Amino acid sequence: MKILSGKIMNYKTLKIDNLDLFFNEIKKSGKNLLVPKKKGKTTYFSSFININDVEFNYIQTTISPKSALFPKVEELISFKKDDGTYVVTEPSIEKETIVFGLRPCDAVGLEYLSNFFLNEKSDFTVRLRKENTTLITLACKNFDENCFCTSVGLSPASIKGSDICLTDIGNGLFYAEIITDKGEKLIAEHSALFSNAEKINKESYVAQVPLKFDSDNLIKNIKNYYNSEKWTINSLPCLGCGACAFVCPTCTCFNIEDEANPVCGTRLRCWDSCAFGIFTLHASGHNPRPIQSNRWRHRVLHKFGYSVTNMDTLSCVGCGRCIRVCPAGMNIIEQILDLQEA
Ligand code: SF4
Ligand code: SF4
Repeated sequence: MKILSGKIMNYKTLKIDNLDLFFNEIKKSGKNLLVPKKKGKTTYFSSFININDVEFNYIQTTISPKSALFPKVEELISFKKDDGTYVVTEPSIEKETIVFGLRPCDAVGLEYLSNFFLNEKSDFTVRLRKENTTLITLACKNFDENCFCTSVGLSPASIKGSDICLTDIGNGLFYAEIITDKGEKLIAEHSALFSNAEKINKESYVAQVPLKFDSDNLIKNIKNYYNSEKWTINSLPCLGCGACAFVCPTCTCFNIEDEANPVCGTRLRCWDSCAFGIFTLHASGHNPRPIQSNRWRHRVLHKFGYSVTNMDTLSCVGCGRCIRVCPAGMNIIEQILDLQEA
């Protein structure tokens, strides 16, 4: 499995009181700045308008930041008949985006997601967004019972996938690790707000998330679980609603829909989920995963088995969102422990 670390290029500090200035400078430069916001009980990423709208009090956002690279619905191509000729329009290059406040596990999730889309045939729109997006992660000071980053080889201080990683080190300061050229460029554009710093040990400033399961053991044995009777019993509560996939930073299932008439049309890519009964339904009527237990098994085996085989990495980053959002109480940690026990 790949080692989930990164190389730090530079260290700085940023006064937390200067975040407002930093955000407004980014906004003035014409870039799109996505920040965590809260509506009711839901925390999600949305464009920065005002510092007072930014949510800082969250363990993890309800919705992952994956739409920054892979939107819920996107237009891939459109056509229009104009004066007897068909004019085809491809997606335009989107403007530069900064995502602020994602957690370290999410940055790894987005790295998996972009590698998935760029692995064999480079996906045009994901590639453009990846090139144009800078990720500023916030290391976790707190965790809840659903977080399990340490069980999948990560930590609340992981820098893998981040361009800049900020850690609250007290005294009104963020410690900034600048990891990539994109991160360096952004800091250089706002250099007056950042001060030089030495490398510090972050461990005492971040949450200590306990291990929930042994992922090496899981990876080693997962092929033995395929025929386990646990899948049937443990998937019984699953409603097949797909919420777990929609909040997950690494779920990449999509559907292509053509909305067209003889005069104009659009090809859309929309999020989909392997939890849905019709996701694998063939035109012939055959469905290779006809029952919910098959679909649940596929989800778990993909996260902890197939992606290790295909991409040499887990496709679960332990963010815990699927557990928090599931209306039926499906808990991937409990299910893994149950499989390992069996
Ligand atoms: S959120 Fe829960 S009920 Fe819905 S598909 Fe996922 S596991 Fe099943
Ligand atoms: S499977 Fe669940 S815990 Fe793992 S990355 Fe997806 S939402 Fe997070």
